[in-house]
Amino acid sequence: MPYRMVCLVKQVPDTRNITSDVLREDGTVNRQALPAVVNPDDLFALEMALGVRDQHGGEITVISMGPPSAVEVLREALSRGADQAFLLTDKRFAGADTLATSHVLERSIRKIGHFDLIFCGRQAIDGDTAQTGPQIAEKLNVPQVTFAESIEELNGDDIIIRRTIEGGYERIRGRLPLLITVTNTADRPRPPSAKRLMFWKKGKSLLGVQDGEERDRLAGKGLLIPLWDLEELGCPANICGFQGSATWIKSVESVKLTARETRRFDTSDQGITGLMNELRNEHII
Ligand SMILES: Cc1cc2nc3c(=O)[nH]c(=O)nc-3n(C[C@H](O)[C@H](O)[C@H](O)COP(=O)(O)OP(=O)(O)OC[C@H]3O[C@@H](n4cnc5c(N)ncnc54)[C@H](O)[C@@H]3O)c2cc1C
Repeated sequence: MPYRMVCLVKQVPDTRNITSDVLREDGTVNRQALPAVVNPDDLFALEMALGVRDQHGGEITVISMGPPSAVEVLREALSRGADQAFLLTDKRFAGADTLATSHVLERSIRKIGHFDLIFCGRQAIDGDTAQTGPQIAEKLNVPQVTFAESIEELNGDDIIIRRTIEGGYERIRGRLPLLITVTNTADRPRPPSAKRLMFWKKGKSLLGVQDGEERDRLAGKGLLIPLWDLEELGCPANICGFQGSATWIKSVESVKLTARETRRFDTSDQGITGLMNELRNEHII
């Protein structure tokens, strides 16, 4: 049977090298100062959805909540094979913590209607909380499987998922509809196809079009990425954005290790075992 799938993709600042000039007074990250990328785990989530469609058929809808520039990650997901996309953008969504983010994403999934599977990344490289997926599953009242590596069996509404756990893996049997968070140990994401890349290069959200004529031309070619704001989602403003957030970021600091904090270990078996024990005792691994 073909499956109706939703995949959540987040635009994130490439936080692999944060410099002091990207931090604002209030501790929030100045996104414009860092290159924006698709959250790496979300590409593995999309690949898992594409794998289901390859085998069983179906449709993949990608959704992103973010500033207007987040249309970029939707274009990338469409170039990689997603069928349709929705951009959730509204100034009143800004500054959201995971609670407020999950409210808006939950509403967008309800607006899409029937779904069998929701895929999201295990974790975002900026907020790093891994909370959004589980929160959405709770609000939609569907079961969730986190840290998924692969779908081992999918037959009708029955599914068996392999998930990674400390020191190994476990198999989870579940019933659809269901939410899955995917790790970067899952199947490697396929590259965008050249044909789709060229096609979606011209794709825009309503915010990006100059006038009605361009809008109609893009819509005619299926290149207009629909945009949903607070009114479109019917979301009360007090559960969105900064206003609806239970947690606020006090400050964000870049941790810089200095020379005196480094230690040399001998590389003998004994030395390595000693190091491993120390890391375990300090719950680092
Ligand atoms: C440095 C930093 C620290 C933060 N700390 C906290 C905190 O402690 N508590 C808190 O509540 N918020 C925190 N936030 C805010 C948090 O980043 C946002 O709420 C964010 O939208 C969701 O949380 P996350 O980034 O941790 O994503 P995660 O929960 O790690 O994301 C998991 C998955 O959910 C999906 N997803 C997440 N956000 C979106 C989106 N906007 N659009 C589409 N899909 C999405 C993606 O598939 C993603 O892989 C922090 C933000 C920053 C920059």
